[in-house]
Amino acid sequence: MARIGFCGLGLMGTPMAKRLIHDGHGLAVWNRTAEKAEPLREAGAEVAATPANAARGRDIVITMVADGPALEEVLFGEDGVAAGIGAGAILVEMSTVGRDAALDAAERLPAGVEMLDAPVMGSTPRAEAGGLQILVGGSDEAFERARAVLEVLGTPRHVGERGAGAAMKLVMNSTLGALVMALGESISLGTALGIDRTVVLDALEDSYLGPLLKLKREMIESGEYPTQFRLSLAAKDLRLVEEAAADAGLELRGITLARQMFDEAAAAGRSDQDYAALVANLQR
Ligand code: NAP
Repeated sequence: MARIGFCGLGLMGTPMAKRLIHDGHGLAVWNRTAEKAEPLREAGAEVAATPANAARGRDIVITMVADGPALEEVLFGEDGVAAGIGAGAILVEMSTVGRDAALDAAERLPAGVEMLDAPVMGSTPRAEAGGLQILVGGSDEAFERARAVLEVLGTPRHVGERGAGAAMKLVMNSTLGALVMALGESISLGTALGIDRTVVLDALEDSYLGPLLKLKREMIESGEYPTQFRLSLAAKDLRLVEEAAADAGLELRGITLARQMFDEAAAAGRSDQDYAALVANLQR
């Protein structure tokens, strides 16, 4: 069983850390807001006072935080992971931060520490069930060493060298903005044309948008959007996609439009709702 340090106990980090504990691994956990670590203490984790303490003496250190600035703070801030992690350990970075931030972090870690960028597909229900798709970039050797731990969380897919996992995650998330935008606008059109909303939703379930609608239908029908994936983080992801595309000399106009719509929904007070609340924001 691995000795694991786990930093970042948000909506995703908490169920992931719990799964690792239940699988028998020894966990030291840290979260900026300390109260969120209490359920993990009750589940058997050691609660560390700093990221450095969570990382010290651990074989594998996992980070699962909001975005690039949060990762910078957790890794390289005062008493950050970099101050505690030892040579021979692997940092498994699972947040969505984009390739540049992942590569930058990997280069600045102490000598002898390997990094895998391993962001995930799938939201909180799949995190609870151990059903995440994990997109891993890094060396074959580090991947093999971390594989058994990652398999507790889902299905790891080794997609290439360092940075490839973070890059692939942007490719995957580039589809998300366009799909939610299309779903919101098609429901809006159906109701504007006078079709009963249930009829619209039933028919759309059989369209190309079906899988997304099946996932989010309950939220759309109830008008309640309890957060699985924060809308503000979806906007952040689309911003990362735009930046990566611009660096590669691409202009992705659809992504920019979707990102602007997410920003408008956030400005309308929906930042902390589930990202599917974009659908509600597009109804007139
Ligand atoms: P979340 O619930 O908002 O949790 C964010 C975590 O980051 C919290 O632990 C938070 O600490 C921490 N954090 C934020 N700013 C920080 C800072 N400056 N210093 C230290 N810690 C900081 O987000 P989540 O849904 O768990 O998502 C985590 C990552 O996974 C994100 O990159 C997200 O894009 C990605 N992701 C999410 C989903 C999903 O469905 N939720 C799916 C795939 C990927 P506090 O508790 O102190 O605020």
